[in-house]
Amino acid sequence: MVASRSARERKAAVEAGPLATAKIDLDAQQQFSYKVACTVCRNTASRGTRPRAWSTYRPGGDNGYMAAMDRWIFHLVEKHPGVEAPCLAYLEAAQQRLHERRE
Ligand SMILES: [Zn+2]
Repeated sequence: MVASRSARERKAAVEAGPLATAKIDLDAQQQFSYKVACTVCRNTASRGTRPRAWSTYRPGGDNGYMAAMDRWIFHLVEKHPGVEAPCLAYLEAAQQRLHERRE
């Protein structure tokens, strides 16, 4: 359990790219909960130039991973255009899922 959790954490960090920090907690049901945070927005928040740091927290194992990564992809595209990250390969799929959720 512990090894697979840290392996998942590393995978999430790699996919999220250099701007993100990825963390996994276990929730009350012993499911993985994913937290993805933006290091750039955190730094600017601590300097007081931006009111809020950005992070997303999504419980629910693999669904949570996907939901957290989708939100992170949208954050990257909106706030940090031009930044490379492996997860941007899933931008189209993320937009498709967003569209499906809205219907
Ligand atoms: Zn950011």
